Amino acid sequence: MRVSSAANSTYNERVFTLVVVGLQAAAQRRSEQIFRVSYDRLQSTVQRIHARGGTIQSVTAGSEPAQSQSQSAGLPVSASPTVTNTPAKPAHKVVPVNLYKPKTPFIGTVTENYSLLKEGAIGRVQHITFDLSGGDPHLDYVEGQSIGIIPAGEDAKGKPHKLRLYSIASTRHGDNMAGNTVSLCVRQLEYKNEAGEEIKGVCSTYLCDIEPGTKVKITGPVGKEMLLPDDEDANVIMLATGTGIAPMRTYLRRMFEPSEREKNAWTFKGKAWLFMGAPKTPNLLYDEDFEHYQREFPDNFRYTKAISREQQNTKGGRMYIQDRVLEHADEIFSMIENPKTHVYMCGLRGMEPGIDEAMSAAAAAKGLDWSELRPKLKKADRWHVETY
Ligand SMILES: Cc1cc2nc3c(=O)[nH]c(=O)nc-3n(C[C@H](O)[C@H](O)[C@H](O)COP(=O)(O)OP(=O)(O)OC[C@H]3O[C@@H](n4cnc5c(N)ncnc54)[C@H](O)[C@@H]3O)c2cc1C
Repeated sequence: MRVSSAANSTYNERVFTLVVVGLQAAAQRRSEQIFRVSYDRLQSTVQRIHARGGTIQSVTAGSEPAQSQSQSAGLPVSASPTVTNTPAKPAHKVVPVNLYKPKTPFIGTVTENYSLLKEGAIGRVQHITFDLSGGDPHLDYVEGQSIGIIPAGEDAKGKPHKLRLYSIASTRHGDNMAGNTVSLCVRQLEYKNEAGEEIKGVCSTYLCDIEPGTKVKITGPVGKEMLLPDDEDANVIMLATGTGIAPMRTYLRRMFEPSEREKNAWTFKGKAWLFMGAPKTPNLLYDEDFEHYQREFPDNFRYTKAISREQQNTKGGRMYIQDRVLEHADEIFSMIENPKTHVYMCGLRGMEPGIDEAMSAAAAAKGLDWSELRPKLKKADRWHVETY
């Protein structure tokens, strides 16, 4: 099998084109300005644009031809900016990281906190949204990243709590498309300790109970493992259990929400296939949205569920996500043979051995050795795993 890289190996040498509006020094604050900048200067340029009141409308890998007169914006760009109305496509791999660190976190405000579960579900999972307005720099992020939350209060030693990471569940535009919110999908951790006492996780309980209006310490964004490929023709296989759906929701919104498609000037044309694992039907997260995408985009999106306590695998046991992987092994491996196919896995760490076993069996059925193939896919930036 051919395993080729979908990532650009000379990424650092590449030029990126930023379309910016609202720069304070610009003669016409409403006009778009274009900046070309090399990757190693991208982060500082983005920060300086924000510091000067500019909004970045899009970032494209590569250079757009200059359209009209040049303007100097005093930014560290490798070519002069030009005024233009030409829409540019965004590059997904322009990745803001660590804009806010634990010692100087951003203070966000909770705007919403609602349950994602239906009646009869097991446990507690909440969708929580934070307002990010007013940050300098603005807390930008892209699909596939995480943020840190520092819960209020102190630990048993009287020290401030440490941050916990959460996968971002909203696209870079936020659920309201205004570009000033971030949403999370949080499961409350609950378990019994050795003495049989009910223990509730510190940060997940803090978040699940949080009231709108509460100020919260946020860090990040972090993470480059789960970024979507730029290629509109890429194929994306998603394996998610529980809150592991968070990054997949961002991909699917980016691919199929009409408002996202319009705003991104990026039209997904490949095949996306979501495998979702949950214990019971009422535990399926964002299920209606995904059903809707499947109805609207039957040629581009497929949604396969493994509901362990309701469905049976071929051996009569509980249906887990790895059983679905095995069931569709042939199709999955035909897709993986295509160098444009990426696989994303997210959820509890415990899902990994099962998926690995299923992929090994599925590969063997096609005469392939998964232990050799997986590192090749990983090296080619096509096998993306974030488990916790
Ligand atoms: C990259 C990344 C992304 C993440 N994304 C999400 C997300 O989108 N949604 C989400 O809900 N979570 C996510 N998490 C997990 C999250 O960071 C926290 O770990 C989780 O919310 C628990 O934190 P807590 O403060 O509630 O628990 P804590 O109070 O920190 O308790 C956790 C500790 O409890 C102990 N423990 C846990 N389970 C048991 C058990 N069964 N038996 C005995 N001891 C146990 C362990 O020592 C564990 O370290 C993510 C983690 C990472 C690393």
